[in-house]
Amino acid sequence: MNTKVTDRLGRALRDLRISVTDRCNFRCTYCMPRSVFGPGYEFLHRTDLLSFEEISRLARVFAGLGVQKIRLTGGEPLLRRDLVRLVEQLHTGVPGVELTLTTNGSLLARMAAGLRAAGLDRVTVSLDALEDDVFQRMNDAGFSVADVVAGIEAAVEAGFSPVKINAVIRRGVNEGAIPALAERFGGEAFVVRFIEYMDVGNTNGWKLDEVVSSGEMAARLEASVGGLTALEPNYKGEVARRYRTAAGGEIGIISSVTQPFCRDCNRARLSSDGRLFTCLFGTEGLDLRGPLRRGADDAELVELIRGTWSGRADRYSELRTAAGTQTRKVEMSAIGG
Ligand code: SAM
Ligand code: SF4
Ligand code: SF4
Repeated sequence: MNTKVTDRLGRALRDLRISVTDRCNFRCTYCMPRSVFGPGYEFLHRTDLLSFEEISRLARVFAGLGVQKIRLTGGEPLLRRDLVRLVEQLHTGVPGVELTLTTNGSLLARMAAGLRAAGLDRVTVSLDALEDDVFQRMNDAGFSVADVVAGIEAAVEAGFSPVKINAVIRRGVNEGAIPALAERFGGEAFVVRFIEYMDVGNTNGWKLDEVVSSGEMAARLEASVGGLTALEPNYKGEVARRYRTAAGGEIGIISSVTQPFCRDCNRARLSSDGRLFTCLFGTEGLDLRGPLRRGADDAELVELIRGTWSGRADRYSELRTAAGTQTRKVEMSAIGG
């Protein structure tokens, strides 16, 4: 058993997001704009990706360093062949760790039951609007709301409870979607999260005036949805505003931009080619695939991860306005949300 590790700001390593592919069947304009991720874009080769065995091995090492929750993401994780087998391997190989997945939902209808049976604990589905024309403009790949809703319904049916729905809100694009999403998924089977649009990656042309602040989202929600009760923060300084709906569901608003929460950030991210990032806005990652493939033993991997985490001082979102956003960042589709 390894000991836990904390960073330079005293933050523990608790949460690991693993990207299992850099590919996606959507081209969300805020994440993988078609102008950049078009036919000529070079995605990783199969052999560049960590194998399931490599992912499981690293997951065990991270669990020994204090990780309690693993989220599979991407790109679109359900595009990774045999993903259910990876879930099984993680479920049996890394016991005691909560296993979750974030997906665009388009392939979930046919996979939800298998994922549940393999040991997946929770699922989050991203859905930014309930109006087809708005949603199709956002995913830019011809997927309809019905495709995703079918996935969400299959997840409920498979026994995921609650199913989390994430919506990124971008000014001039989908701020009008807030009330409909809140009402459609206001039941106790769901938790809905509205998320401020972030300046991740280098390609989405992010501008501050496209961010709908959490304050404005809350005002829109309170003005349009009846029966909401504001919930007390779970802890002092919690940045998600949360509400209980009349039907027993929960709605939250996440202030990633206007009230950043770096102070409590205990998340590490592993890219699909095995680089460790200590911040969503990281510029370079620590290569773990090289050592893995050279035959490093667990002790060596532990020391590499420990060294990186203990030197971590990331707080990009708190410095965003002061530091500007000039540096070249990793793409969100490479490391997941
Ligand atoms: N493809 C999956 C999906 O969309 O759920 C998983 C990967 S995606 C990168 C993870 C999450 O990041 C999604 O909920 C997505 O909406 C969010 N995301 C992507 N770009 C974002 C941005 N610029 N600002 C805020 N959230 C973003
Ligand atoms: Fe794909 Fe998810 Fe990015 Fe949309 S947000 S392009 S679904 S990875
Ligand atoms: Fe964590 Fe980096 Fe986001 Fe701050 S900016 S909350 S350190 S991922």
